[in-house]
Amino acid sequence: MLTNGGPLHDELEEALSRHLGIPTAMLFNNGTIALMTALRMFDLPSGGEVITTPLTFAATAHAISWNGLAPVFADVSPDDLTLDPASVEAAITPKTSAILAVHVYGTVCDLDALQDIATRHGLPLIYDAAHAFGTTVSGRPIGTFGDASVFSFHATKLFHTFEGGLLATNREEDRQTIYYLRNFGIKNEEEVVGIGINGKMNELQAMIGLLNLPQVEDERQTRAKLRQNYKSFLSDLPGIRLQPDQPGVSNSEQYFALQIDPEKFGRTRDDVYEALKSMDIFARKYFHPICTDFEPYRGYPIHSVWPQPAVDLVKTRVLCLPFHGGVEEQDIAQIRAVFLS
Ligand SMILES: *Cc1c(COP(=O)(O)O)cnc(C)c1O
Repeated sequence: MLTNGGPLHDELEEALSRHLGIPTAMLFNNGTIALMTALRMFDLPSGGEVITTPLTFAATAHAISWNGLAPVFADVSPDDLTLDPASVEAAITPKTSAILAVHVYGTVCDLDALQDIATRHGLPLIYDAAHAFGTTVSGRPIGTFGDASVFSFHATKLFHTFEGGLLATNREEDRQTIYYLRNFGIKNEEEVVGIGINGKMNELQAMIGLLNLPQVEDERQTRAKLRQNYKSFLSDLPGIRLQPDQPGVSNSEQYFALQIDPEKFGRTRDDVYEALKSMDIFARKYFHPICTDFEPYRGYPIHSVWPQPAVDLVKTRVLCLPFHGGVEEQDIAQIRAVFLS
């Protein structure tokens, strides 16, 4: 019971299903295993290509590779940094088996364009929603788009269970399949019906989740104020570009990402990063280096509809500022001084 569908586990699973507005929402021990399981659900052919973004955490690409599938990187949209639909289209081959898009920084992907491509080519569309906990689009929960969505409850995420994850899908009929995949393929004491993995969340993780969940909305509101605060001095600064406001989208408030154009701003992203660091303020260059800079994916092309992939420039410019309820007025003043100096 401590590790296998105990009472706290079931309570949290139900609570999250309600909170996120997703009927089929199943807990996992971390987001990476949930991503691996999401891909596994579709029985994709060995060596099949899965189109994804290079501007993400390594786990997105690794989940593809661990399934014996081949990650294929398509460019990001220069406007909002999510997977660019035109570049996805340009990356499609007869071996393409699925699309794995990321709501990076909580910015929602071009849902309609990606769904249109997926439908036309008969491809499952999976979302890595690790940055989009609680996001809604015109009131519709983010986890109900595409064929499956995966959330991470790692300690760095808005809502966390120390480590944890969740696989969400509209495909109620797949609940049993996911259940087996999550628990070694065990059907009963004497039958193993599939090649499952150990993806189960334990009672300690679930307990942390049950304690954290009631605090999420307050934390989100505190961060929403922090966002306004940052925006008040960054919005009009030459050479600073913020992630776009998306009409109808309620932001998860997980990240505050911006881009620094060194010509127009007068300093590089790295200059600003170092200046902050010298004051013990730790910004992050998410996601630099990008996946194709990492050893296992080095030399993988980035399929793009532009002469030069947009992500190559973006990765030198992007910076995520400290973004949590513990950032205080004096911290903001220091950060402001670094940008305005
Ligand atoms: C955090 C994260 C994950 C999964 O991380 P886990 O630590 O395994 O829960 C996957 N994708 C992205 C984009 C993430 O930020």
